[in-house]
Amino acid sequence: MNTRPTLLALALLCATASHAATPATPAATSAAASRPLACTDFDAYVNDEWNRTTELPPDRARIGSFDILRRANDQLLTRALAELVAEPARQTSPGLRHLATAYRAGMDEAAIERAGLSAIAPWLARIDAATREQLPELLGELATLGADLPVRPFVGSDLLDATRHRVALQAGGLGLPDRDDYTRTEASSQRLREGYRRFAATVMQAAGTPMAEPALDALLALEAQIAQAHLTPVQRRNPQALNNRRTVASLQAEAPGLDWSRFLTAWSGGARFDEFNVAQPAVARAFAQAVQAAPLDSWRAYLRLRLIEAYAPMLPKAFEQAHFAWTSGVIRGIPTPPPRSERVIAGLAGPNGSAPLGEALGELYVAKAYSPEAQRRALAMVADIREAMRRRIETLPWMSAPTKLAALAKLEAMVPQIGHPAQWRRYEGLELRDGDFAGNQLRTQRWWLQLRLAELDKPVDRTRWNTSANTVNAFAAGGNRIVFPAGILQPPFFDEKADDASNYGAIGTVIGHEITHHFDDRGRQFDAVGNLRDWWAPEDAAAYKARAEQVAQLYSSYEPLPGVRINGHQMLGENISDFGGIHIAFDGLQIALERRRKAGEAIPLLEGRTPEQRFFIANAVIWRGKQREAALLNQLRTGQHSPGRWRVLGPISHQPAFAQAFGCKPGDPMAAAEPIRVW
Ligand SMILES: [Zn+2]
Repeated sequence: MNTRPTLLALALLCATASHAATPATPAATSAAASRPLACTDFDAYVNDEWNRTTELPPDRARIGSFDILRRANDQLLTRALAELVAEPARQTSPGLRHLATAYRAGMDEAAIERAGLSAIAPWLARIDAATREQLPELLGELATLGADLPVRPFVGSDLLDATRHRVALQAGGLGLPDRDDYTRTEASSQRLREGYRRFAATVMQAAGTPMAEPALDALLALEAQIAQAHLTPVQRRNPQALNNRRTVASLQAEAPGLDWSRFLTAWSGGARFDEFNVAQPAVARAFAQAVQAAPLDSWRAYLRLRLIEAYAPMLPKAFEQAHFAWTSGVIRGIPTPPPRSERVIAGLAGPNGSAPLGEALGELYVAKAYSPEAQRRALAMVADIREAMRRRIETLPWMSAPTKLAALAKLEAMVPQIGHPAQWRRYEGLELRDGDFAGNQLRTQRWWLQLRLAELDKPVDRTRWNTSANTVNAFAAGGNRIVFPAGILQPPFFDEKADDASNYGAIGTVIGHEITHHFDDRGRQFDAVGNLRDWWAPEDAAAYKARAEQVAQLYSSYEPLPGVRINGHQMLGENISDFGGIHIAFDGLQIALERRRKAGEAIPLLEGRTPEQRFFIANAVIWRGKQREAALLNQLRTGQHSPGRWRVLGPISHQPAFAQAFGCKPGDPMAAAEPIRVW
């Protein structure tokens, strides 16, 4: 379930885990004694002791700095939500009142068991009785409920004009994590297919519509047909490939078999839109063809499963547990579910805090855990790091003057969003009820869609937040924005009381990473206002691609699991952003230190370390982590982020300032002979 509407909203990292703690850093032994390991394997140098002494909790796929902070934020929210529910006087805004109702319903497990499937029962009944002739309207209505269909319409900002809203049809609808999982012969993919069949069989049995083995075969066959048409993760990174303007008539001619007008009208409730974008026309063709030709029983089973899957976390235990066993157990290797409160919070927040009630969670969080001082310091860091990027662009040896001017204008126009929205959403017209967890989810989905559809004729609001303020992540968002929620402006990423070196090495490199995203292999294709438009001189684009290819080759040489290497092209945008991010954060630190020196401040050693050494140690701390093998394999196949260890080793070994800070010599593994530099 990926419901993120913005095209360029790139997550930094995702996962989960136990309590916030100040990171332990390696003891400051003498430079001579520490040089060999720091220069051989800096990740081991900083993180080995933590790796040895940290246990992966049974309810987590991964533990590391992101995960520990996520759990701390969830625990803070759990306490705050308990107060909010117990003391109605605390429900001082519409968002907090809705949140209290939603959370109370989520924690009311007895009511959830009593409700059974009632929230989605009308649509399950329609699926059971559907004729082929009724499929277009039924599919359109299921899209309003958030079911993950092969073609998922949504309202987002236009690729070619970021100030305008446009309907776009995303590709989806696959129960397995990756398109190739339907055909791969390796044991890991067979295990996934078995797990998925078990999930389908279990929830269908619980829903009173059991599936025999031949029906499961047919379900997988239908999905495999759609999967074949999907682009690969590498192909999906090319925004030009996803830019396909269509009208209903042109799509009807191109993808016959489904009445697109009836499908889209059922989804939009008749809201008018003439042109729309089709991200993957081949998927639309395969979908329409299957609507016409695949056995009706396969469609019924498929749609039942997609609908139940979308609501499973809000349904009785039989459904929720089967969903956990599949999505968390089989795919990511997690043996035990986290506490109920954290599961409910995760459901209300949605992926990366993008669900409608995420903003209310952020409102509650910010009141407890965010200060104006954090906002001020973060803004100052953004200014220093943006200035560092400006200087780098000006001195780039491979870029011509006209392209530099355009790049500088884009950097200048970049809009930071820090902490939380200026005003909290008021949720007018949303209706939530006690004891109706799944029904609340359904009404929220449809309420949200109506808001989005009503915006079709209005300009895009660039101050809107698409992530909740409690989120432990940062984003390069559409419209040339960079987003740092209050949830990540916390230790060990950011600490009001820490020295500049630690903050620039941690959250500073995250800021640098997000700035660089707008100049990575995909982000560079968008202009200063976020439109997909080529502003590069051809020879500059060629010079860029040659450098990007060096980054891709470097990462493709890394092998996190025996026999499974990083796909350097799939992860290219993230890795370019790590490379650029650490450079400009380091330069930003130098700007901050220079300001202090000019003001007459001494910059003392701390814990026997120079600021430069502390910068790199802080960076290696944020990427530390232990991960379950299934989760790591899933990340390597479907994700865009390299595993943490290589996010340390790759960029730092190509950073001459690092070799200087730790006295690494030519030939040391952490001192690349010919450092790769893009930005
Ligand atoms: Zn990123």
